[in-house]
Amino acid sequence: MNTIKNAQVAIVTGASRGIGAAVAQRLAKDGFAIAVNYASSSSEADALVTELTAAGAKAIAVKADVSNADDVRRMFETTEQQLGKVDVLVNNAGVLKTVPLADTSDALYEQTFDINVRGTFNTLREAAARMNTGGRIVNFSSTTLALNMPGYAIYNGTKAAVEAFTHVFAKELRGRNITVNAVAPGPIATSLFLDGKTEEQIQTFAKMPPLQRLGQPDDIASVVSFLVGPDAGWVNGQILRANGGVA
Ligand code: NAP
Repeated sequence: MNTIKNAQVAIVTGASRGIGAAVAQRLAKDGFAIAVNYASSSSEADALVTELTAAGAKAIAVKADVSNADDVRRMFETTEQQLGKVDVLVNNAGVLKTVPLADTSDALYEQTFDINVRGTFNTLREAAARMNTGGRIVNFSSTTLALNMPGYAIYNGTKAAVEAFTHVFAKELRGRNITVNAVAPGPIATSLFLDGKTEEQIQTFAKMPPLQRLGQPDDIASVVSFLVGPDAGWVNGQILRANGGVA
């Protein structure tokens, strides 16, 4: 029980499913107390918290739309009150709709930038004021940024902003002993990637990496575990492209 009481605290945004859920499971195994953030999938978030708690971890579900600054402030407050001051922030929440730029509606543009960019901005700004010395921040970019595929202009624009935030914020936190890095996954078998694709399209993506398979959420969870763990203390301001070798 002592390990639970003294556990370091991690917020994982967008942890109700997909990569975020795998990150929450892995960091709980690593000994962190976990705030499982979600925007609307409350039953999935609650089920994950029940699973983590049953396995001996401390975990809470925290509803917050990351694009809303008040929600994000409340997410940090709730986490501090129930688990303690935050040591790790994983900015995983994100959305993707592939549409040619010419056909992108104002609403889709705004939603994508609001969640992927403003959401990351909101949590980073809050983290600057609230995180423990010695903390770790992991943002989420995407390997699509390097691939320049049609349909990805808006999404890639958001991830370019996230990479820019990562490089600059790592320097702005000088003296706090907080690292800021980003992971840039290649295709990972989650609903964000799979929804709306034909089996043929999925197989095309699966064949892209020289390792010849789709990534799984655990492939990324282990990278996040490394970046927030003791062995990555000297890794700062970096983008780690975890993609099976997709160039
Ligand atoms: P996913 O399966 O669609 O899960 C997205 C998660 O984000 C859900 O838990 C969702 O919860 C949450 N979310 C969405 N909008 C939110 C908001 N406004 N506030 C808080 N939470 C919100 O996606 P994923 O594939 O795991 O992607 C996770 C991250 O990896 C994203 O940043 C994505 O861009 C990045 N990525 C993914 C891939 C891939 O191939 N899958 C590749 C490269 C990068 P609710 O349902 O409650 O909204």
